[in-house]
Amino acid sequence: MSWLSQLVRPDILALQAYEHAVWEPGLTRLHANELPWRSDCDDTIAGLNRYPEPQPQALVAGLARLYGVAADSLLVARGSDDAIDVLVRAFCRAGRDAVLICPPTFGMYAVSARIQGARVVSVPLKAAEGFTLDVPAVFKACTPDVRIVFLCSPNNPTGNLLNAADITAIVRQLEGRALVVVDEAYIEFAEAESCAPRVRKFPGLAVLRTLSKAHGHAGARCGSLIADPEVIALLRKVITPYAISQLTLEAVLKALGQSELRAAAERITQVRQERARLSKALGSLSGITRVWPSAANFLLAQFADPDAAMARARAARLLVRDVRGFPGLGSALRTSIGSAADNDRLLEAWA
Ligand SMILES: *Cc1c(COP(=O)(O)O)cnc(C)c1O
Repeated sequence: MSWLSQLVRPDILALQAYEHAVWEPGLTRLHANELPWRSDCDDTIAGLNRYPEPQPQALVAGLARLYGVAADSLLVARGSDDAIDVLVRAFCRAGRDAVLICPPTFGMYAVSARIQGARVVSVPLKAAEGFTLDVPAVFKACTPDVRIVFLCSPNNPTGNLLNAADITAIVRQLEGRALVVVDEAYIEFAEAESCAPRVRKFPGLAVLRTLSKAHGHAGARCGSLIADPEVIALLRKVITPYAISQLTLEAVLKALGQSELRAAAERITQVRQERARLSKALGSLSGITRVWPSAANFLLAQFADPDAAMARARAARLLVRDVRGFPGLGSALRTSIGSAADNDRLLEAWA
């Protein structure tokens, strides 16, 4: 507990967790002020008149199996966005502590920090070297008030994987000083190993995984934080007790079935093939000056006239993401890998 007590908010460490109604499915529930009747439109298995099981065991076990980790190392949340928020709230004292991010990167780390009143320290990725980590600069910027370092691999919006040796160096160097959170929202699309099983070896490492991207369940809102069991036990006190709705629980348990997982793997292969095709085709268009390599399900491209490209996409009734506001991405737009037909329409609009 000692390393963690140095990092986490002391009031969270001392916090008495909310005592939710005990979970004993065999008994009649007269202890949670629920109605005894289901409504006619309720087609769930368990009934929406009942509160769901907090941190549902079957779900936690299924996700832990999927990610190759122990069940006590996994917190299930309403998407990884929720897990990011819980992390920042548990580790950062408002007005005193900070998080470190490496822009251009996913926007939620900074937004969650600001909501909590935590400072945001930025150490830019090295754009000229393919958006790689500036490891010495991370060490230098990691003052004692930095409690969490967010690394995103593959990184959104640049698409590249971070170097595994760089991540390991940062985790080792910051051991006991900051929690290093590796956001692997897109790892299934990459040809790389997840860091998740390494949390056993490195208590200062935490990994975010989600069903929103490769598993096609963005609407279900189901993300996981994988970390040392002590960190997970602590965060279970902070996350809202009924975070996972019965609707999400039942949908995700289905999605974790063998045949569903096989189908998901086939769709990942399809995305990778479309990514290669779209990347090559975009690279040959005269209005596009650069397409970055991607290990994710999106592509980042640099345009001679990004305003015109945005307008032409919209005229074809396609939305792409304007990422020009990110530091260092002056004239770049990001597009998801759509269906082959979507991608053809985009290519036509930008031809
Ligand atoms: C999309 C995305 C997420 C959000 O995932 P949810 O599980 O849907 O909340 C997290 N991190 C990155 C980098 C993303 O791009």
